[in-house]
Amino acid sequence: MTDCYAVIGNPIEHSKSPEIHRRFAAATGEAMTYRRLWAPHEHFRAVAEAFCCGGGHGLNVTVPFKEEAYAFADRLSERAAAAGAVNTLRFDSDGQRFGDNTDGVGLLRDLQDNLGITIAGRRVLVLGAGGAARGVLPALLAADPAALFLANRTAARAEALAERFGTLHPCPLSAIPERGFELIVNTTAAGLQGENLELPDDVLAPGGTAYDLVYADTETPFIRWARTHGATTTSDGLGMLVEQAAEAFFVWRGVRPPTAPVIAALRRGEA
Ligand code: NAP
Repeated sequence: MTDCYAVIGNPIEHSKSPEIHRRFAAATGEAMTYRRLWAPHEHFRAVAEAFCCGGGHGLNVTVPFKEEAYAFADRLSERAAAAGAVNTLRFDSDGQRFGDNTDGVGLLRDLQDNLGITIAGRRVLVLGAGGAARGVLPALLAADPAALFLANRTAARAEALAERFGTLHPCPLSAIPERGFELIVNTTAAGLQGENLELPDDVLAPGGTAYDLVYADTETPFIRWARTHGATTTSDGLGMLVEQAAEAFFVWRGVRPPTAPVIAALRRGEA
């Protein structure tokens, strides 16, 4: 019998996850199906329960349901508990719903392993304090940066995350107190609609790295800004998307799929 998985979100029609998992399953020989699952904003629990009771084996969870998935899980991994958000649910045979968060490890694998970026000892600025920031902050902090600043449009949300994670410096996006960051990670959803962030000209150190969690077929506004403000290395979040999916695949199937060919295929537009 074929095991069933899905990605749940709203909106969900543009998700590349089914294509990514189809490629992982083909590469590893795992017998599974994977589809998109749309849920109305106020009905995450009902839709997720129906999928689980209907024999579903696991879900990836995307915007805007990661915090609801956290509440939905019976058991949490350490990294999901730290994040306060779940992007991977596994429905175990004993009836338990296991919640995990693979966003942080996905970002680190893309930044450190695929792009060769060092985080240890570097001054890092994270933009945004939503669900994605919650997922990646514990991993970034564990990578031992010299300092980690967190800037958000709504400053109170950055302050709340600083209370949760301790060693962060929260600030409003409109008043970032320092300059010359060696790595800036954009976790805001601003680029999705092509909106620009208003950033000080010298906030990125010359030769620094800019990483945008948003991915698009064309250059994102943040990456365009970074390229014209001294960045040597830039990347959108496609690699992270594939790496966090690979970690979810491992959580479900106990098998690590190859990621480089999948990233390359998606970059060529084969999805
Ligand atoms: P979210 O919980 O809705 O948070 C959105 C964040 O963006 C908040 O900090 C919000 O600020 C900020 N924001 C939105 N529009 C803005 C604007 N015009 N100017 C300045 N700030 C703005 O969403 P999320 O779950 O964190 O996801 C954020 C993005 O990351 C999405 O595009 C998502 O697709 C992407 N993502 C990518 C990956 C990947 O694997 N590549 C993984 C996870 C997420 P306020 O607090 O002020 O509203």
